[in-house]
Amino acid sequence: MPHSGRCLCGAVELEVSGSPVAMGYCHCSFCRSGSGDPFNAFSLWKHDAFRIKAGAQHLATSGKTTESQPKYCTICGDRLMTDYPTLGLVDVFVSTLPTLAFCPSIHINCAEMVLPVRDGLPKLKDFPAALGGSGEMIAD
Ligand SMILES: [Zn+2]
Ligand SMILES: [Zn+2]
Repeated sequence: MPHSGRCLCGAVELEVSGSPVAMGYCHCSFCRSGSGDPFNAFSLWKHDAFRIKAGAQHLATSGKTTESQPKYCTICGDRLMTDYPTLGLVDVFVSTLPTLAFCPSIHINCAEMVLPVRDGLPKLKDFPAALGGSGEMIAD
């Protein structure tokens, strides 16, 4: 079953289908400052499971790096997702997908954690090794 999402003003609509590659929480400073929360809930999808349904012309990139491209609506400013073109993956923020059953399995970028979470889930210092990170874990 596909899941649809939209920005706050509704100009940009997106859709994901199938199952995400991973779901969890990111503690990096970019996610924290962008969301205004102590960490951000993410769902990672392959590019072929993701499409923009409407309003692609209103989607802009805040341009952090070529590897990590946060996308927001130019009308309402809502952040919807971060594209990882070199990995072929897109992180659609869980808050963007109201019908997705969120089943987190991991915390990432925990070296930057400001609010400790003791939920028994694995905690990676940065990114998984398969995504170019160190793959190192930190204690719960
Ligand atoms: Zn919008
Ligand atoms: Zn992050």
